[in-house]
Amino acid sequence: MSSTLVVEQDWRALGACSKTDPDLWFAVGAMEHKQAKRICRECPVQSQCLAYAMDAPVDHGIWGGLTERERRRFRRQAGAKDWRALLQAN
Ligand code: SF4
Repeated sequence: MSSTLVVEQDWRALGACSKTDPDLWFAVGAMEHKQAKRICRECPVQSQCLAYAMDAPVDHGIWGGLTERERRRFRRQAGAKDWRALLQAN
């Protein structure tokens, strides 16, 4: 693994989810989504996490406080534009 990749992904160790059951972020129920999103809102690396999931893109689970469905919707709405501007407008 290159040192650049290690530095780029260091934020994961700081995520609030690193101290809890990771299954919560991949559950399908609305209650679990709500609980995971509540934790994401307080997470110190939420923006890095969301940027990673949007740019990768990651198709499964809640990342940066958004479900895969919400991330897909933003990607679709953004089209060729930068999704970051669209998120800030919402
Ligand atoms: S934003 Fe949510 S999914 Fe991302 S690192 Fe933080 S707690 Fe984990």
